[in-house]
Amino acid sequence: MTVYTPEEIEYLDRQALEALQLLRLKRVITQALATPFYKERLGGVGIKHPEDLKSLDDLKKIPFTTKDDLRDTYPYGLLAVDKKEVVRMHASSGTTGKPTVIYYGRDDLDRWTGLTYRSLKACGCDSEDVFQNMMTYGLFTGGLGLHYGAEELGMFVIPSSGGNTRRQFMLMKDFETTVVHATPSYMLHLYSQMENMGIELSDLKLEKALIGAEPHSEDLRRKIETLFGIDAYNSYGLSEMNGPSVAFECVEKSGMHLWEDAYCIEILDRDSMEPLEDGEIGELVLTNLIRHASPILRYRTKDLTRIIPGSCACGRTSRRIDRITGRTDDMLIINGVNVFPSQIEEVVMKVPEAGNNYRIVVRKKGTLDVLIVELEIGPEILSDDTRDLYALKGRLVDALKASISIKPVVELHEPGQLPVQEGKAIRVVDERGNLY
Ligand code: AMP
Ligand code: ZN
Repeated sequence: MTVYTPEEIEYLDRQALEALQLLRLKRVITQALATPFYKERLGGVGIKHPEDLKSLDDLKKIPFTTKDDLRDTYPYGLLAVDKKEVVRMHASSGTTGKPTVIYYGRDDLDRWTGLTYRSLKACGCDSEDVFQNMMTYGLFTGGLGLHYGAEELGMFVIPSSGGNTRRQFMLMKDFETTVVHATPSYMLHLYSQMENMGIELSDLKLEKALIGAEPHSEDLRRKIETLFGIDAYNSYGLSEMNGPSVAFECVEKSGMHLWEDAYCIEILDRDSMEPLEDGEIGELVLTNLIRHASPILRYRTKDLTRIIPGSCACGRTSRRIDRITGRTDDMLIINGVNVFPSQIEEVVMKVPEAGNNYRIVVRKKGTLDVLIVELEIGPEILSDDTRDLYALKGRLVDALKASISIKPVVELHEPGQLPVQEGKAIRVVDERGNLY
């Protein structure tokens, strides 16, 4: 078996890359067969042994895996190794009920670090850089994900995590940060706070921003670049596929290389789920080829994108995906946190005082997103003491925060005040515009 260096792997020709993919896929199938869930699923399509997979094309026989499958098998139904081999877990935000959990063994983490190392290198980072990681450290993969790749590359890592803008500026200034990792909306927020916090652009040594975790347009990227006088690179990932460094832009900034030695890409028609040609927009379906503790085959990301036809000027052979142009489901991304309207409904419907109508409004406040939950309440409570209203609001805010991890604004309304649709109720009003 050929062993490639991280550098060689990025420039493999198609044939060598696909041979490596098949080899890795068989290894992952071995792991998947160790779980009752995949044993049954794979058995159903005649795959009882990794060698039953003759070519990469056979991947198409395998049924899709969805977020619901991960939730239904919570907590350990998809764990393919002994629990004592697990060294870390992460969980995805944005699910009702139980989270979707991913497990990593020691080698899984090393392989993921290999990808984050390559991604940082591809966009021009090196050991001279001071890297301030403003993504939240925790169950969310955004923080810890790039952290280890950055250390591997020898960058000076400041694990500042999310929020606390004043401290972010202090660190940026005092430690001469050259690279930051943040959501695009947080970059805009930082800029909007500069004057207020007495920071001038000339106080900073910033050269690059790695931006991801939420949809953003090319115009928004340019805006961030112009405001700060830096380069901004798009970074795509999802916890089910490890986290950041599924796809990353190189210095050419012409789409994100989806690291094909680590993931099999399919772009499928959103209705028929049939394969599309390069260049056509459809749902991205991914198979992780490098994680053995939590194998996930043909995962429906629900993200819409396309493969950019042709090759990249940088010479890397992994194909590139375009920025995400939408989702096939109703998931909202609010300041980088995934929220499903059903999570909000679940909380709202548990409140005995709730009336018949509610609405979810997302809008910009300055540069950040705000989530407003508008709820009609029964007439009895309205005529009661206003203290009861405050208490109800407080209870709702707490319950929503506990469920979706972000603090919403709750507005209570009299019955009949919220708009009523004649047809299907419009529960979500997203006023942010120009996200994709
Ligand atoms: P999570 O599993 O919580 O990390 O969320 C992953 C989801 O965030 C993806 O499926 C996308 O919908 C979204 N996402 C992550 N990175 C990007 C990006 N660069 N552009 C657009 N959406 C993104
Ligand atoms: Zn490139």
